[in-house]
Amino acid sequence: MVSALQKYATLLRQNEFKATQPRVKILEVLDKSPQPLTASEIHEKVSTLDIDLATVYRTLNKLADAGVLNRVELGDEFSRFEYKRVANHHHHHIICDSCGKIVEINLCNLDAIASDIAKSTGFTNIQHQVVFRGCCERCALKVS
Ligand SMILES: [Zn+2]
Ligand SMILES: [Zn+2]
Repeated sequence: MVSALQKYATLLRQNEFKATQPRVKILEVLDKSPQPLTASEIHEKVSTLDIDLATVYRTLNKLADAGVLNRVELGDEFSRFEYKRVANHHHHHIICDSCGKIVEINLCNLDAIASDIAKSTGFTNIQHQVVFRGCCERCALKVS
């Protein structure tokens, strides 16, 4: 129990955060989640701690700004947050329009496009954000 939480405390200290209980708990929730979560989904899961949604939201944004967490935008009004299991692992997500299921996509060949953009615009350090949406297999079966 202690050693599992130690991992998050160490990660926080490495990034110059104090290892407070809410921060440790938020990291644990995200590490155990198979998909990125919104602030209110995380807030529900840390309901044993006495922290409000605004504090959860602020904490998440601070951790994401510091690079401790990934911020995931999927084209709706929510920011979602994801635990970085592998450092600097570039990947995308696809979200199901009907049930909200999110799946990680590990292939990306947009670097070729980025280098074309670099050539034609002179821009450097080009990054991209892409939103993939669709209908998951389970929902497709329900509809048809
Ligand atoms: Zn679905
Ligand atoms: Zn990509």
